[in-house]
Amino acid sequence: MTDDIRNAGPRRVGQVKEITSLANPIIKDIKALSNKKDREETGTFMAEGLKLVIDALELGWNIRTLVYSKAAKGKPLVEQVAAKTVAKGGLVLEVSEKVLSAITRRDNPQMVVGIFEQRWKPLADLKPGRDDTFVALDRVRDPGNLGTIIRTADAAGASGVILVGECTDPFSLETVRATMGSVFAVPVVRCTAEDFLAWQKKSGAQVVATHLAGAVDYRMVDYAKKPVVLLMGNEQSGLPENLAGAADRTVRIPQQGRADSLNLAVATAVMLFEARRHLLSLDGAK
Ligand code: SAM
Repeated sequence: MTDDIRNAGPRRVGQVKEITSLANPIIKDIKALSNKKDREETGTFMAEGLKLVIDALELGWNIRTLVYSKAAKGKPLVEQVAAKTVAKGGLVLEVSEKVLSAITRRDNPQMVVGIFEQRWKPLADLKPGRDDTFVALDRVRDPGNLGTIIRTADAAGASGVILVGECTDPFSLETVRATMGSVFAVPVVRCTAEDFLAWQKKSGAQVVATHLAGAVDYRMVDYAKKPVVLLMGNEQSGLPENLAGAADRTVRIPQQGRADSLNLAVATAVMLFEARRHLLSLDGAK
């Protein structure tokens, strides 16, 4: 449910901790969120920037800690976000720029950072409807690619991203940055290749796998007749035989020039907008 931060009540005095020392144990814990192990153990992650934090709260994400720089103190939107964090039982920290730089590992850090609870959608809850388009990524490795794909999936109107096999973490700082906030808007699922194959059989969706050796031009597929899962391969090795062989269609994006292949995020964008074009043109209004 949408939760408007402007409705948050006034912040109560004494609920903001001021921290200037990098040795403070709370700061140490937040800094540790740059490690996947610590993110997994705590089930949290960090998002930078006031706009992202506001969007996340409005989309109903649970905030554990809000960190802002002394320079942001008194700004109305920051005060409102702080009040909302306190109302939700979260911690508010006012810190020096040195501390914010250390937390975000940046020389010119954003003035506001939020620590949120991670959210994963269970594969079993993914029940594709007729107009749904999903992206499934086989062992995606590069955080920038994953973040760009989540952002593009959001922009194209996709319903979710499925991470198949050992993938890079969608909640790493680098991936979250590359999503530009879309990590809060696009449901993310993780599963093994075996679970994906079992789900695919009963999902009612057509799986369109992309492969450099695909038999069909990607523009020749009817993406509107069933929900679609666009299956994309690993950056180095492409799709393995067990996933490619089980797909309903295997398509290629025709290329010219000397490049062996397209970048994964670029190929995903081409596929997504083609698949969504079929649905949008059906319903003339969009
Ligand atoms: N060396 C890898 C291979 O042999 O497949 C290249 C992988 S490519 C960088 C990453 C993924 O992007 C591919 O597995 C495929 O899903 C997609 N892709 C890139 N270019 C493509 C193209 N021209 N046609 C279809 N899929 C493509």
